[in-house]
Amino acid sequence: MIRTVPAFERMGEENAFAVLARATALQQQGKEIFNLGIGQPDFQTPPHVVEAAIKALRDGHHGYTPANGLVATREAVVRRTLTMTGVEVSPEAVMILPGGKPTMFAAILMFGEPGAEILYPDPGFPIYRSLIEFVGAKPVPVPMLEANGFAFSAEQTLSLITPRTRLLIVNSPANPTGGVTPRAEIEKLVRGLEAFPHVAVLSDEIYDTLTYDGEKHCSLLEFPEIRDRLIVLNGWSKTWAMTGWRMGWSIWPTGATGGHLYDKVRKLAVNCWSCVNAPSQFAGIAAIDGPQDAVEKMHAAFDRRRKLVVEGLNALPGVSCVVPKGAFYAFPNVSATGWQAKPLANALLDEEGIALISGPDFGVLGEGYLRLSYANSEAVILEALARMKRFLSR
Ligand code: PLP
Repeated sequence: MIRTVPAFERMGEENAFAVLARATALQQQGKEIFNLGIGQPDFQTPPHVVEAAIKALRDGHHGYTPANGLVATREAVVRRTLTMTGVEVSPEAVMILPGGKPTMFAAILMFGEPGAEILYPDPGFPIYRSLIEFVGAKPVPVPMLEANGFAFSAEQTLSLITPRTRLLIVNSPANPTGGVTPRAEIEKLVRGLEAFPHVAVLSDEIYDTLTYDGEKHCSLLEFPEIRDRLIVLNGWSKTWAMTGWRMGWSIWPTGATGGHLYDKVRKLAVNCWSCVNAPSQFAGIAAIDGPQDAVEKMHAAFDRRRKLVVEGLNALPGVSCVVPKGAFYAFPNVSATGWQAKPLANALLDEEGIALISGPDFGVLGEGYLRLSYANSEAVILEALARMKRFLSR
């Protein structure tokens, strides 16, 4: 047998892809599947965005682009950032990457090494921990508690910082819980971070447009105090239903403290993927600058389904679900059903054809929970809820 380096034994996965594969296999055997597993909009990319990519191809944009992205795409991100946050960033601080994930990889690669500690949300997006372990750093989970609306607690987060902490990963609105950290708590966190200038921050804001009940996303970019050590991850995947296009952006620090990071992520691009394909980058400009009615329609549909799913979950025996304030996930507590989360998720798929992800796939504090993606038609949601009711009432 040929032997690889041990880092690959430590690398984890995103179980959503495994569940998707299992659900697809069952479907091919003729089983009816209600897929609440994968976290992607069930909508198509808006047509004017698709047209922009086709036009770019027809216009001959077939070659490499600069490793950090086309100037026009980076300038579109500058406009979009200004609209969302009121903050004007330089196009020289914007990096275009193939999705949101590569920013995660870049940031964790830059700060993670044996001896380094990286703080990340638990339950949280599983790739954070996977990459922290891959690079040999110590993963330090920051508890996201149901009692706290699955939001960051500034006090608790700050209490976990040590002289070895190199990076803090923040995610709001959050996957898998739909938790949104309130502005006041983020302000407290930022103020507290001033005492720890050795800690860089990665803020994953990929769900920034997906908030509900009047909740407004608070970007960490709005705090100049940490701007010189802040990396903001964002992208097109969720907001414009573009998961398969592999288009993301990030905003990197400028100035003496963290200005050197940008050239490092650019070099990483040159070494790994060269650049993002040109037609997608033209599509990305059209997504940002074009009409937003499709985005608004998707948002309204997610909001309707959110209410439907939460109401339905709370009517199930042994299940309680806090109202998620963001993203497109519900994270019901199923501990009173008498089931552990993982066997319950497996049984629901095998016996009722419902694909969803179990809480432990998002961290140790995920035990007792399931994640349902409500980026799905109301008919699918209602049928899945009816089947869950039948199953849990047995
Ligand atoms: N960050 C979070 C919190 C996510 O949930 C996801 C996707 O599920 C990503 C980042 C990755 O996004 P992309 O598909 O653009 O790489």
